[in-house]
Amino acid sequence: MIIDLRSDTVTKPTPAMLAAMFAAEVGDDVFGEDPTVNQLEEKCAALLGMDAAVYCPSGTMTNQIGIKVLTQPCDEVICYKGAHIYKYEGGGLMGNSHVSVKLLPGDRGRISVEEVSNNVNNDDQHYPRTAVVALENTVVREAGSYYSLKEIEKISAFARSKNLYMHLDGARLFNALAATGDKALEYGKHFDTISICLSKGLGAPVGSVLVCKNEFAKKARRIRKVFGGAWRQAGFLAAAGVYALDHHVTRLTEDHARAASLGICLQQQPYVKSVMPVDTNIVIFELIPSVTPAQFLVQIAKHNIKALAFSNTEIRMVTHLDFDDAMLEAAVNIFTKLRF
Ligand SMILES: *Cc1c(COP(=O)(O)O)cnc(C)c1O
Repeated sequence: MIIDLRSDTVTKPTPAMLAAMFAAEVGDDVFGEDPTVNQLEEKCAALLGMDAAVYCPSGTMTNQIGIKVLTQPCDEVICYKGAHIYKYEGGGLMGNSHVSVKLLPGDRGRISVEEVSNNVNNDDQHYPRTAVVALENTVVREAGSYYSLKEIEKISAFARSKNLYMHLDGARLFNALAATGDKALEYGKHFDTISICLSKGLGAPVGSVLVCKNEFAKKARRIRKVFGGAWRQAGFLAAAGVYALDHHVTRLTEDHARAASLGICLQQQPYVKSVMPVDTNIVIFELIPSVTPAQFLVQIAKHNIKALAFSNTEIRMVTHLDFDDAMLEAAVNIFTKLRF
């Protein structure tokens, strides 16, 4: 048995999800004729209270399309300094959209309306034109910290007052909803584009969805085509997404509870310097200076556990659909016995 805690992307389809995939009705989606893709897109738009949705191969692509739809070259995007769109998408904001970024420190990745308002550029030819405020919920670099809808409302009201667009990297939006109890349906009105991942906590093998206003949907499809992401009989994959939204949302609280248990265990270990607060399904901790991430990973690999080096001093573990209570118990046992 391998316990893979590197990411919540590592899950394999359950037998029931596979059955739904095999049973999918499909057609050519470039012609708009894949009924299962259409069903998934309609479902996502309805769920978030938005007009339209565009199914894409990855969360990186949905984010990149979202930003490109909302900007012109030389515009500026405001975001947290460790935002996935900036830090973990290979420089795509610059490469794909030719935009500049204004990076804010945030409170564990959550930027405030005050920070945003202090960083909107004046309308002056010297400055890039501030065009978009991009939020991430949950924040992957900050161990899955989350915004409540109340905080988002303040930022979106300010953004509207300044004619700025709002993008949400909601790769783990459903984890944030599970933690806050906020309603998915309330989210759409605060954003112009929302990216959600079906292949993270929701457990689909592939796929992300850009949920957006009608006015952006056509442009988003055009950009997806240019990125090489327009697909054909993708209904087999979309069926996994539909299944995930129907069956794998309410269980996310189990992942959060298991992550909390891992955090408590690790906090007590002599080789751990500190654990970031564990708010959802991500555990990030710093090792003591005498233990490197590589040494830690080698040791746990001997016990068939995988985790991720997240920096020169940090390790990341993410709980998911394929990490159950028996695996939690085994992992806790091993982490308690490890010595360096
Ligand atoms: C994983 C992730 C993405 C990108 O998703 P991929 O499908 O891996 O491209 C975007 N944003 C956040 C916050 C993520 O964690």
